[in-house]
Amino acid sequence: MSIASILGYPRIGRSRELKRALEGYWSGRLSSEQLLADTAALKADRWRQQQAAGIQHIPSNDFSLYDHVLDTALTVGAVPARFGWSGAAPELDLMFAMARGSKGEVEVAPLDMTKWFDTNYHYLVPELAADQSFTLASRKPIDEFLEAKALGITTRPVLLGPVTFLRLSKGPAQGGSTLGFLDRLLPVYAELLSELRQAGATWVQIDEPCLSQDVPVEVLEALEHAYQKLGQAAPGLNLLLASYFAGMGGNLATALALPVDAVHLDLVRGASDLDPALQLVPEGMALSLGVVDGHNVWRTDPDQALGQIQRAVAKLGEDRVLVAPSCSLLHVPVSLEAETGLDQELRSWLAFAEEKVAEVCCLARAGHGSPEVEARLAESREACADRRNSPRVTNPAVRARMARVTPDQFARPGDGPGRRLIWRKGVSLSPLPTTTIGSFPQVPELRQARAKLRRGELDQSHYEQLMKAEIRRVVRFQEEIGLDVLVHGEPERNDMVEYFAEQLDGFATTQQGWVQSYGSRCAKPPIVFGDVSRPHPMTVLWAVFAQSLTARPVKGMLTGPVTILQWSFVRDDLERSQTCAQIAMALRDEVADLEAAGINVIQIDEPALREGLPLHRTEQPAYLRWAVDSFRLTAAGAGAHTQIHTHMCYSEFEDIMGAIAELDADVLYIEAARSGMSLLQAFADHGYTNEVGPGVYDIHSPLVPSVEEMVARLRKAASVIPLDQLWANPDCGLKTRGWAEVEPSLRNLVSAARQVAAELTAVSPASS
Ligand code: GLN
Ligand code: ZN
Repeated sequence: MSIASILGYPRIGRSRELKRALEGYWSGRLSSEQLLADTAALKADRWRQQQAAGIQHIPSNDFSLYDHVLDTALTVGAVPARFGWSGAAPELDLMFAMARGSKGEVEVAPLDMTKWFDTNYHYLVPELAADQSFTLASRKPIDEFLEAKALGITTRPVLLGPVTFLRLSKGPAQGGSTLGFLDRLLPVYAELLSELRQAGATWVQIDEPCLSQDVPVEVLEALEHAYQKLGQAAPGLNLLLASYFAGMGGNLATALALPVDAVHLDLVRGASDLDPALQLVPEGMALSLGVVDGHNVWRTDPDQALGQIQRAVAKLGEDRVLVAPSCSLLHVPVSLEAETGLDQELRSWLAFAEEKVAEVCCLARAGHGSPEVEARLAESREACADRRNSPRVTNPAVRARMARVTPDQFARPGDGPGRRLIWRKGVSLSPLPTTTIGSFPQVPELRQARAKLRRGELDQSHYEQLMKAEIRRVVRFQEEIGLDVLVHGEPERNDMVEYFAEQLDGFATTQQGWVQSYGSRCAKPPIVFGDVSRPHPMTVLWAVFAQSLTARPVKGMLTGPVTILQWSFVRDDLERSQTCAQIAMALRDEVADLEAAGINVIQIDEPALREGLPLHRTEQPAYLRWAVDSFRLTAAGAGAHTQIHTHMCYSEFEDIMGAIAELDADVLYIEAARSGMSLLQAFADHGYTNEVGPGVYDIHSPLVPSVEEMVARLRKAASVIPLDQLWANPDCGLKTRGWAEVEPSLRNLVSAARQVAAELTAVSPASS
């Protein structure tokens, strides 16, 4: 039999126990002892479950109270000076301060947070000082190994490898390489490996996902250098080197030449790695085959997976083959058991973490005469065939419509400056117009109303009344403070993607399908299982109601096709580009309905456009092409008298400026408050002629921005972007904030815009 293994498991627990424990501790309801006891129980549960399922290499140290990159920084003692760390074993509150900031006498800013490769998991970015030294500061990997051992389970500790750790860290010099720290860091890893060996570990998994990226040769040399050292650090300890999220391609030869005992391949994203790996694998090295998709929710087709496994077994023998998910199961929900709302058939097509663990065990034991294993495999085979042949996944009307799409459907009439003239004739705007990004605070009453509607304690018409009362309130408020273009505030939206998924055909939503986003935050991505279409309007009612309350323009508010795609689990039986185009077409219908109902500004949010960029550079242009086309297909249904706005946040945009310009959105609201407006230069350099609304109010901070600071940002913006192309707005939606902050912040924003507009129109006779 091959060896059943997994690279990592969800941390949150079946009912988000981790979230409750963390938030209990942060609010002071739970002591640190209680937090640790609750999470110890969670860990023990996971280990026992994996053991019972038959996993042979069970991971430890894949659990984290907040984030595994932060854990690694603490393990090696990389704590920035501002946290005043004494050098003693790091305490819980130090970790949480690094994750979330701390408010003592002086506020200490947390580490930056950013996306973990192309997933929706966010990690904290370690910071390294010029004189950075490293020590084995936290013993978490060893402690967790011993914790499992005390339960009678010998685990395979998981470490983030030194090279990837350094690549994910921020060094003292802007943009400089951090690999220069490697020699200082390696002794700590060596010490850690040796301690793990002494504690009884026989295998350690070291993750170096940078092997799945296009990396400069220095990185490959750094890996060679590092593993020459680490391969000798602990005699008797076997190292499994893991990379994932894409094939290793050209880096495969380097990986397989490292002095490690096993290499993990992501065969879901990088199936073409298998043949060269079987050619190159040295005598004695084992291969871990990532045949179960750890990044998506579909049940594994056993024939495809077994084909790959058998090829490897034929060459290496069973004891040199590990069967595994493609990556950590961190990125899928915990268990299908709670999904009683999904119909039986759809459920049978899916596998969440628990089910994937069972799949791995079955695949590793296949062909050894176990009737139970063979029965399960047969069941999977049948479910996959059922899915392939189901009339639910293909909608002939959608296919026919998509086949009829013509090039002119991607182009808006005229150009940005021309459309601006047409639109501005019909409305009166301040010289530097103000608006918001869409949502207003999601106060508990709104969430409660939705929960009651779901439980049947509130009927639809009462629910609508409550939402309309809220819309009335926010429209009045916006009029009162003098915003130019208003929003309805999105009170009816649980989530900017799920709201649409619930109404689109081809999508399913789950009850408990939570996936960790960062710390205690979880998201519940919908599942696209079939061709997508829109049976009825989704947002028109609310937009029209809001517009009926005011003479000022109200924006219709849509989530864009790329973001809906990116934040969902997407089918694996159709190209992503095609699913995206189908979503775009459904949204295009919504644009048409909004326009017909008299809404003449429509905002199509694409915060996830940048994050969909493939890891490999060669694949990036094709992605940007279809992503931009999808947006344009959605937007281009609108006439010249309708303004299309968009919003992006959470990422760096300089490198996709060309694509952003091609969206041809009339106004682009972009997160810029944090980057000190430096982004705007890129627009100026690019010769961007449409309008831009740089976020001047950082909504991620609870602080109320002063008029002066926003004036300073707007002046800076106006020094690069002509005044008649400039808007003033917050840098994202306000749903996570409270009214106590939002109200004064927006008042200040309007004042700041008025002040800057007055300054600039006074000195520039051309614009008067
Ligand atoms: N319109 C959305 C909102 O305001 C945009 C959210 C986002 O960019 N993440 O909430
Ligand atoms: Zn945003």
